Amino acid sequence: MLLHPGESKLRSSYAVIENYGPESYRGPGVLYLTTHRLVFETNVSQGLVRGLVRGKETVTVLETPLSHVRNAAVRKGRVGRPRLQLELVAGRPAFDVLDPDAWVAAIATAKHSMPTPGAAPVVMHTIERQVVKIRCRYCGSLGNEVDGRCPTCGAAL
Ligand SMILES: [Zn+2]
Repeated sequence: MLLHPGESKLRSSYAVIENYGPESYRGPGVLYLTTHRLVFETNVSQGLVRGLVRGKETVTVLETPLSHVRNAAVRKGRVGRPRLQLELVAGRPAFDVLDPDAWVAAIATAKHSMPTPGAAPVVMHTIERQVVKIRCRYCGSLGNEVDGRCPTCGAAL
């Protein structure tokens, strides 16, 4: 997975995605949480898009900005291990992943750390001071007006 400038990886784990997409795709891969995104990648050889993406070892199945993650929770079914259940703007994938509670906490923390949409961006102001040079009437050197004196001969400017 390629990170964008300013993005860093917070967590990654082997996971099996379930119930994703119109065909309820299920398959193994790696789930990543970054400071900006949730990404799930699978190996091309594991079937999803074999033949569609040539020359790439992995393919992104799911990539969503954290702002599109409406909810992350642990779903405990009657059978099997608890799942990480996501509610995204587009779909409700579940993940069979080790320690889903830790994922829920990590996603919540990452979302909380994101800049609020619409918040005023931090603007850095650069104040430039204009320096006026004056030529000394005694020796001809250039001195700064604010210094008041010629840097060469010391005469008042
Ligand atoms: Zn001078």
